[in-house]
Amino acid sequence: MSKKYCYLFTEGNAKMRELLGGKGANLAEMTNIGLPVPQGFTITTEACTQYYEDGRQINDEIMAEIMEYIEKMEKITGKKFGDLENPLLVSVRSGARASMPGMMDTILNLGLNEDVVDVIAKKSNNPRWAWDCYRRFIQMYSDVVMEVGKKYFEQLIDAMKEKKGVTQDVELSAEDLKELAMQFKAEYKAKIGSDFPTDPKEQLIGAIKAVFRSWDNPRANVYRRDNDIPYSWGTAVNVQSMAFGNMGDDCGTGVAFTRDPATGEKKLMGEFLTNAQGEDVVAGVRTPMPIAEMAEKFPEAYDEFVKVCNILEDHYRDMQDMEFTVEHGKLYMLQCRNGKRTAPAALKIACDLVDEGMISEQQAVAMIDPRNLDTLLHPQFDPKALKATEPVGKALPASPGAACGKIVFNAEDAKEWAARGEKVVLVRLETSPEDIEGMKAAQGILTVRGGMTSHAAVVARGMGKCCVSGCGAINMDEANKQFTLAGKTYHEGDWLSLDGSTGSIYDGAMPTVDANVGGDFGRIMAWADKFRRLKVRTNADTPADAARARSLGAQGIGLCRTEHMFFEGDRIAAIREMICSDTKEQREKALAKLLPMQQGDFEGIYEAMEGCPVTIRFLDPPLHEFVPTEEADIELLAKDMGKTVADIKAIIASLHEFNPMMGHRGCRLAVTFPEIAVMQTRAVIRAAINVQKKHPDWNMVPEIMIPLVGEVKELKFVKDVVVKTADEELAAAGMNMKYLVGTMIEIPRAALTADQIATEAEFFSFGTNDLTQMTFGFSRDDAGKFLPAYYDNKIYESDPFARLDQVGVGKLVDMACKLGRATRPELHLGICGEHGGDPSSVEFCHKVGLDYVSCSPFRVPIARLAAAQAAIKQ
Ligand code: PEP
Ligand code: MG
Repeated sequence: MSKKYCYLFTEGNAKMRELLGGKGANLAEMTNIGLPVPQGFTITTEACTQYYEDGRQINDEIMAEIMEYIEKMEKITGKKFGDLENPLLVSVRSGARASMPGMMDTILNLGLNEDVVDVIAKKSNNPRWAWDCYRRFIQMYSDVVMEVGKKYFEQLIDAMKEKKGVTQDVELSAEDLKELAMQFKAEYKAKIGSDFPTDPKEQLIGAIKAVFRSWDNPRANVYRRDNDIPYSWGTAVNVQSMAFGNMGDDCGTGVAFTRDPATGEKKLMGEFLTNAQGEDVVAGVRTPMPIAEMAEKFPEAYDEFVKVCNILEDHYRDMQDMEFTVEHGKLYMLQCRNGKRTAPAALKIACDLVDEGMISEQQAVAMIDPRNLDTLLHPQFDPKALKATEPVGKALPASPGAACGKIVFNAEDAKEWAARGEKVVLVRLETSPEDIEGMKAAQGILTVRGGMTSHAAVVARGMGKCCVSGCGAINMDEANKQFTLAGKTYHEGDWLSLDGSTGSIYDGAMPTVDANVGGDFGRIMAWADKFRRLKVRTNADTPADAARARSLGAQGIGLCRTEHMFFEGDRIAAIREMICSDTKEQREKALAKLLPMQQGDFEGIYEAMEGCPVTIRFLDPPLHEFVPTEEADIELLAKDMGKTVADIKAIIASLHEFNPMMGHRGCRLAVTFPEIAVMQTRAVIRAAINVQKKHPDWNMVPEIMIPLVGEVKELKFVKDVVVKTADEELAAAGMNMKYLVGTMIEIPRAALTADQIATEAEFFSFGTNDLTQMTFGFSRDDAGKFLPAYYDNKIYESDPFARLDQVGVGKLVDMACKLGRATRPELHLGICGEHGGDPSSVEFCHKVGLDYVSCSPFRVPIARLAAAQAAIKQ
């Protein structure tokens, strides 16, 4: 049987969102529950996908069905397209499965031509209205369907108002509007080269195609990527008979919310404009009145509207966002949907609906968008300031929050300026571990290079600090402490503002508002915790980060990256000494200096985690990251070690690698220098023993994680070193403490041989940053250069370093879980790549049966909520 591509509003319902889009499904639902909806039909999302499959054509089958439905609509309304007795006029609107406000296009008053205008002018005895409709239609059709810029028409309107000595559109007479319509048509012909179409069916097909086309416009593509909406969904088209809000002073149009979308307060919020059509409210050409005033001017329609609001909230059990029109005092509903809202409003509305007995706790948890929680936990720009400002650049939203400060170009300056009380933004080509303290001192970080799992992104996220990464549009001149962006040169000390939630960069200082979490947040989180199966751990390397994560609900540490500890203070000197040693003895001597420092760090972290499990990962990055680059530092190191500068330079040169990400890092370091693993094991076990003695009621089980394993024998090699050392330490302390040795699965070969790996590993943690990098075969630091071309060409819809590629990388994860558990049924499974804090990836982790996800501290609440939603969905 062939597919059905059109549905009358009477044929659909709210459950048919996928096919009818949100707007179409809700128009059908409102029709079903007896609300006053101007009737029409919906062309399905499948017709849209077919349109693209057919090379942007409406095929004969769909065209025939549309014609059939026009006839059905004509019967229902008793009006006919182009009729000189009773002409049908329609609106044509887009409506995707997920609402995408303002992203796609709308056309009103379709079906008009000069003959029809004459008819409706006479019938209504209101020529002003008739010509107003016509000039609006020509304007919208030209703009949306034929892509003649709006501005040409606006210029003509302005000229007409000036000629007539008036300031408002409503002051123009029927004659003025008729003249304008003629001018518009002439403008159309001048730009397009043919007459403005007079046949309503031709107009309609043009409009439908324009809506389909708008699914692929640049702003819709960006919106979809930001909101995880697949391109394959397509948009539906709604053809609805017009109700007129511009027929006189007993008419009007409005938009309203059943609760305040900014605060969540339970009160009707909205705006109403008399003698106007929908786009006037949105465009802001006239100032609308608050909805409460409508009660005085249109008491009957207002009363009915309030009733409709109550019916809709009661029906959908959520805050509604509605568009309506009043035609000669009678109310018509044009649209309803669950309203977009701020994060605080979302929490309040969910809690209030539970308290009002409207929804269950489960439903409350399910209705909050986890990504929204970010805005509660980090400072944000003042929304008014944001609206009034255009960004000067856009790059990756690497770590959320808003930051504003004076530009500095290196970590030293960041520290120095911050110490004297200045707010700074650190701008770097890219960051390296040496920049950590500068990053800490800065309000925010902007990098020219690097993706969503680059050093800057990962570290900033861990600190909860705003970061925008990979801004290739910047032309950097580090030597002279300046850069150019959008045609302007920025110098040290100039103000810059960054929005890490959107990736936008703003010139100057933009005011910020502080983060603030209220009681509703705690209630929702407590409910989420009741429903989730996945545990949520955190990626934290310092006691402060660990404590913060704990306060946000982390149930342990899934990844403590020990290399970050090697950069602080005098540790870097010891690690450099270790790297530049010639003999094992020299290396051990240098490592002995590090041992007490690492042990102290681990004790601090164990204390902060209050007995919760802590996975400590052994040293991972390539050694060249630690060696000095500045001449003075090289001289100092040479002096300390009794070597010549040339010796040190030769060692540094020998560490050079062409592909450091695939070079001498991870467990390969411990294979070549087992003494590093020995030192780290001692530090972990000694710290655990001390903390256990201090807190006899805690059950300390240290978890040691070996990174970048691809072969079971290399894991066994390092594990043997760890076990021997740990057992020695425990024996010396006379302690009987359980500890675990596990591995990261971050190399495809480890996933492929997970059954073998599990013979040695007591737990797996999926390092999906490296696993993504190595599965795709592109670098996590450099992918930003070419990913935009992949988005533009619809090869990838999202950044695989931000959102887990479930098809490929996910298949490896799923397979490794099954293989690993086949060998060792009690194998504990987690994820510690950046995907552990991404809602859709968390859902995947739930489905494949991981025990926990681990993410940066500020994403812990997001992961808790996403984990609960995954469990509820299942
Ligand atoms: C990973 O590769 O996913 C991971 C967590 O390790 P890192 O980001 O430190 O390489
Ligand atoms: Mg890794």
